[in-house]
Amino acid sequence: MIIMKKERYNEEDFAGFVQDLIQSGRIESKEAGIAKQMMDKGYGSLTDKQRYVFDKMIENNSVDECKLCACDIPWCEMLEALDNGGYCNYCQHMMEKIEKE
Ligand SMILES: [Zn+2]
Repeated sequence: MIIMKKERYNEEDFAGFVQDLIQSGRIESKEAGIAKQMMDKGYGSLTDKQRYVFDKMIENNSVDECKLCACDIPWCEMLEALDNGGYCNYCQHMMEKIEKE
């Protein structure tokens, strides 16, 4: 599972997600420090131990797939998905629409 996530570290919006994660206050200062180094110098600059902390931190702060449509949740929607129980923006939107009707 962590390996799958690592492949997604290269996605365009991953850096933005890490940035938001740091600002969200969800992660500890030690994790935030490593996350900042990752942003500045890249994942390759982290030691094995730092990578382990970073990977765990991402693992704990992300959703594998949308609970409803099972699509990969884009990084830019990840914080929202964490808050709404694990749904992508599209499904979240559809559910809100159904509730209102
Ligand atoms: Zn969905």
